[in-house]
Amino acid sequence: MSQFHAQSAQAVMFFDGNRLTREMLYTEFEAILDGFVPVVDLASQTAQVVYLQLTPGLAVEAAVFFTLAFDAKGMADRRWNIPLEQLAENSAHGPDLGAGPIRLACASQCCIAWHQQQLWDPNMEPKANHFTLIKKSIQRNRLGLVAVRPQTTAALDKTLAGGSAEVGALRQELETRLEAEFRNRLAQKIKEQRLHINTLKGQHNLALDRVKLEYQRRFETLRQELSGSIRELEGEQAKSLKLKGLVDGQADKIKGMREYFELKVTDAKSVGQLQLDELKQHYQLELEARVESEASALNEQLQMREVELMYRNTQLSSLQEEVTRLQSDKQDLLQNSGNQMLSRLSQQGLNFVTFQAGIGHITVPADEVAAFTESPDAYVANRCGVSEQHYAAWSAHYRSPTCHALVAGGEHCGDRVERIERPSDFHLGEADRCQLHRQSPSQLMRAVPL
Ligand SMILES: [Zn+2]
Repeated sequence: MSQFHAQSAQAVMFFDGNRLTREMLYTEFEAILDGFVPVVDLASQTAQVVYLQLTPGLAVEAAVFFTLAFDAKGMADRRWNIPLEQLAENSAHGPDLGAGPIRLACASQCCIAWHQQQLWDPNMEPKANHFTLIKKSIQRNRLGLVAVRPQTTAALDKTLAGGSAEVGALRQELETRLEAEFRNRLAQKIKEQRLHINTLKGQHNLALDRVKLEYQRRFETLRQELSGSIRELEGEQAKSLKLKGLVDGQADKIKGMREYFELKVTDAKSVGQLQLDELKQHYQLELEARVESEASALNEQLQMREVELMYRNTQLSSLQEEVTRLQSDKQDLLQNSGNQMLSRLSQQGLNFVTFQAGIGHITVPADEVAAFTESPDAYVANRCGVSEQHYAAWSAHYRSPTCHALVAGGEHCGDRVERIERPSDFHLGEADRCQLHRQSPSQLMRAVPL
């Protein structure tokens, strides 16, 4: 194949996922690389690109799957410097796209390790296979490439037409070549499958990396949230501690104030008690002084009264003496003058008679007239043979013969009783009681205070 290499064509294809978006000749691609032509629709993107080397018969013989970044204006990254031809020449085999196994450079299969990051892996799934897309596109030949029929086939035809004599040897050779071809094909298939496995591994690794990254990110977020929560908790704890300290301080202050006021109340109580005691004492002293002064004043008055009384007594006794003296004087006078007169009258036949109610007429001898005039009641009582008080009680009964018993309300009964005509027949407590109020002698004794 190397004899065709000089004439081999080069093409470049752009993919967007599993979609072929652009195909061009390598010379056109160089114009993009050199910044002559911007690709506006890829601005600020990284494109997935495939570089292809083609046989003269227009079959793919080498492919490099690489990436190319574009700036905001759609210009290709100037730092891009992947040696496409070198990779295409030196890479290991890939699938057969019509002219035997291609040489393939991709992320899973790269002969220059430091370029691996700039390569990508084709999709080899049956539904969306990049190789199939490439093969179909080349067959459609929109780029207008010119195919050259290989001369090996023509040489073989000429040999076959040479003569039947060599048919046996030719058959032998053909069989050998077919066998070799078969072995090659088998080996090729195995390689393809290995490549497929490698690309799948790469995809899985990428997916795994994405998942790892995602988890790393989520882990980091949660860690930050957790540390934020811890910080908040610590802040709250510190705040709580501070508040607790504040509360303790307040409690201490309140306790101190309470003690102070209790002390004050105790003081006030003791002071009050002291004042009360003082007042009591003062009052006591005042009271005693007053009582003393009053008592002394009263004593003075009393002494004055006693002196007065003594004076009165003296006066009274002197007056009594005078009265006695005057009475005896009067008696003497009566005796001396009246009696003489009365004796004379009596001798001349004149009698002195007095009438007393209930007693009748009493003759008074001349020498007793003085005694009669002195006290007629006493004289008459004496003549009747009763005491003066008995006579007075009888006299009251005679004038008004009623019951003298005391009844409820402190009044006398007042019922009429039989009149006793003579004082000597009158019995106090019996004669002056109605039938209802007459009592036994023992009761009479109590009832009548004589
Ligand atoms: Zn009576």
